Amino acid sequence: MQKTNILPEKNKVIARRKLTQEEIRREVIALQDMGHKRLALEAGEHPLVNPIEYILESIETIYSIKHRNGAIRRVNVNIAATTVENYRRLKNAGIGTYILFQETYHKKNYEILHPTGPKSNYAYHTEAMDRAMEGGIDDVGIGVLYGLNTYRYDFVGLLMHAEHLEAVFGVGPHTISVPRLCNADDINTDDFANTVPDDIFRKIVAVIRIAVPYTGMIVSTRESQISREKVLDIGISQLSGGSHTSVGGYVRQEEYDETTSQFDVSDRRTLDEVVGWLLDLGYIPSFCTACYREGRTGDRFMSLVKSGQIANCCQPNALMTLKEYLEDYASPETRVKGERMIAAEMLRVPNAKVRRIALENLDKIVKGERDFRF
Ligand code: SF4
Repeated sequence: MQKTNILPEKNKVIARRKLTQEEIRREVIALQDMGHKRLALEAGEHPLVNPIEYILESIETIYSIKHRNGAIRRVNVNIAATTVENYRRLKNAGIGTYILFQETYHKKNYEILHPTGPKSNYAYHTEAMDRAMEGGIDDVGIGVLYGLNTYRYDFVGLLMHAEHLEAVFGVGPHTISVPRLCNADDINTDDFANTVPDDIFRKIVAVIRIAVPYTGMIVSTRESQISREKVLDIGISQLSGGSHTSVGGYVRQEEYDETTSQFDVSDRRTLDEVVGWLLDLGYIPSFCTACYREGRTGDRFMSLVKSGQIANCCQPNALMTLKEYLEDYASPETRVKGERMIAAEMLRVPNAKVRRIALENLDKIVKGERDFRF
């Protein structure tokens, strides 16, 4: 059978539904009821259907909702490449990371995938992060979709992109994501010439970790539980949990709409199951959003990460935000495991003063106060 690198039509369909602000409000409440503190806002790239004003209004709606003890503290935005002025407006709206995947750095394959439409200009798409930085956004997230081209080409392209951002702006990517083509209803990876097998996938994660040690690395629910587990100890630092990828999918979970889903989810566990699993594996599930809210972004963030000093903040922040999760959302089993983790790890906070304050804050969290951070 002839192999291809072209996605079937369904995967190129722009979501036909668009949420009203009231629907967004209900989605955010559903996310807060799960325990989420950050989200990624995604939208189709149609400039008239989804103008920047719609995105800005949605961000304002999301940040405005305080539901019980919950709040979304960091809105990351994943929208199509846009202008310096629009990036400036996103920055002023208080976004966390601006995320845009290259899909493939291979120009010819990119143009085959995007023959027309707003994404068809390869240079405009590829230079988006430069414009984002010029617009004042200094936390940017990059990634390719492994499988659209040979992984070697896109791997080198990704690292060159990171090197370019660091050389020109003094700030490398805040996050790198590693999506790859996976089997789905209408995709059989055997039909694709460049799909990435599990062993190569793990090598990609490991080498990116070595090459760009300061960067957060993300793996989504597109990967299975087993696959996610195998990349955790070689470089992945951020995971999504309890994700729904269809438009309005958090409120209308029972009405899964495959025509608007961005990708098929392999890991369908709840957030609580993911948190419990991480605890079983010996990791601290952290809901921390402190850096961006303390203004530790861009080169300021990078200097703390590269020197390792950020660990003085990460450990206590992780434990305090885990405590919030345990108090407000965890199942009894997860709560037992989480309390055990907090008791053990609090002893390992190296700075005595920080440890004392963090312990005091844990007591305050039990009494109902929220949102402590270093
Ligand atoms: S303190 Fe650590 S865990 Fe929290 S946002 Fe900063 S880098 Fe992330």
